[in-house]
Amino acid sequence: MSRTVYVNGSYLPEEEATVSIFDRGFLFADGVYEVTAVLDGKLVDYAGHTARLERSLKELKMDLPISTEELLQVHRELITRNNLTEGAIYLQITRGAADRDFVFPKDAKQTIVLFTQVKPLSAPKTGIRIISAPDIRWGRRDIKTVQLLAPSMTKMLAKAEGKDDAWMVQDGFVTEGTSCNAYIVTKDGKIVTRDLSHSILHGITRAAVLKLAAELDMEIEERAFTIEEAQNAAEAFVTAATAFVNPVIEIDNVELSGGKPGPVVTRLSQLYLEESRKAAV
Ligand code: PLP
Repeated sequence: MSRTVYVNGSYLPEEEATVSIFDRGFLFADGVYEVTAVLDGKLVDYAGHTARLERSLKELKMDLPISTEELLQVHRELITRNNLTEGAIYLQITRGAADRDFVFPKDAKQTIVLFTQVKPLSAPKTGIRIISAPDIRWGRRDIKTVQLLAPSMTKMLAKAEGKDDAWMVQDGFVTEGTSCNAYIVTKDGKIVTRDLSHSILHGITRAAVLKLAAELDMEIEERAFTIEEAQNAAEAFVTAATAFVNPVIEIDNVELSGGKPGPVVTRLSQLYLEESRKAAV
C-alpha cells in the first residue's frame, strides 16, 4: 500500500512526491536527517532527536524551515495517516534547490521531507554478527548528514561475508557501527562505549541507555576500545533508534557470550523497551 509522505508543506501519496533535480541534497549531500522510532503509535526520545536536528542544522549554517510545534504535528499526522503502530519516521532537510555551485546559495528555499517506515522494533533480539572494517567516513560524524555512502559500502562488506553489520575502526580503535553506537560489557560488568567527539554520532538512544544504566547503578566508561578488547569482553551490543538495544554475538568470527545474547544486554534491552513505551509521546 502506498504511504502518505510530507514534502514541503503537503501531504502526498509517495508516488506523487517530488524534489528538484537541482536539490543540493542530491547534488552535494548538503542536508541532514533524523530518525525517530514509533512504538504503539507514539514517538520515542522525540525531544532528543529534535535537539540533535537543530544542532546538525546549526553546524551546517542552515535553519529549521518549520516551527518545532509544526514539526511535531507533522510527525503525528504521518503516524495517523499511515496507521503506523511500530516503525520509524525519517526526516530529511536539505539546503534546497539552487544553481550548481560549491558556494552555499543565499536565498534557496530549503527542502523538507518526512516519511514513515514500518519496522518490528519490539521483537525479541537474537543478536547480530559483525566484522570490523576501516572507518572511511569524513571528519564530522557528529553531524547527522545524508552522506551515507561510506557506511553503506561498509555494511556491504559485512553482507559479503554473510554477517549483519560492521564496526568501523580508526587508528586501532572502534568508532561505531555503520548506523549504530557500539558498546562492550567487560568481564567485571562495566559498560564501555566510545566518548563523544567529532568521531562518532552522538546517539540519542546512546544517551537514553547510558542514563538508564546509571540509574541501575551500572558502571560506565566512556572511552575508546579495540576489536581485540571487544572480542575478549563478556558481552557486546549496539544502540540506534531503529535497533534499540541489540546484542552483538560475534566479532570477526569470535563468538561472545556463547553465541547468544548475554544477561546484561538482555536486561538493558528489555528495560529500554519498557522505559521507551512509558515515555513515548
Ligand atoms: N551512529 C551512526 C553512524 C548512526 O547512523 C546512528 C543512527 O542512525 C547511530 C549511531 C545511533 O543514533 P540514534 O541512537 O540517535 O539513532
